Amino acid sequence: MGIEPESIEIRDLGFRWGSCASKGKLLFHWRLILLPPERIDYLILHELVHLHGHNHSPASYDRLKRAAPDYERQEEWLRRIGDQYGF
Ligand SMILES: [Zn+2]
Repeated sequence: MGIEPESIEIRDLGFRWGSCASKGKLLFHWRLILLPPERIDYLILHELVHLHGHNHSPASYDRLKRAAPDYERQEEWLRRIGDQYGF
């Protein structure tokens, strides 16, 4: 992705899988460990994109698409499976 977070924290994020806080800090829900590895990779890529911009703009999705060409499938799966993991 050409960018690195300043720090990473694992915690209970309530209803979010991940979050990009200010100053380049990425937060991930501890429940990620319950997901298949490819979903974890996707969520990490998703949050790394937010280091470039804290939004879901078309430009953000373009960047995400380059890193994860199947991002729509990943997002869809995460939406569907969310309930099962308590989201
Ligand atoms: Zn996002």
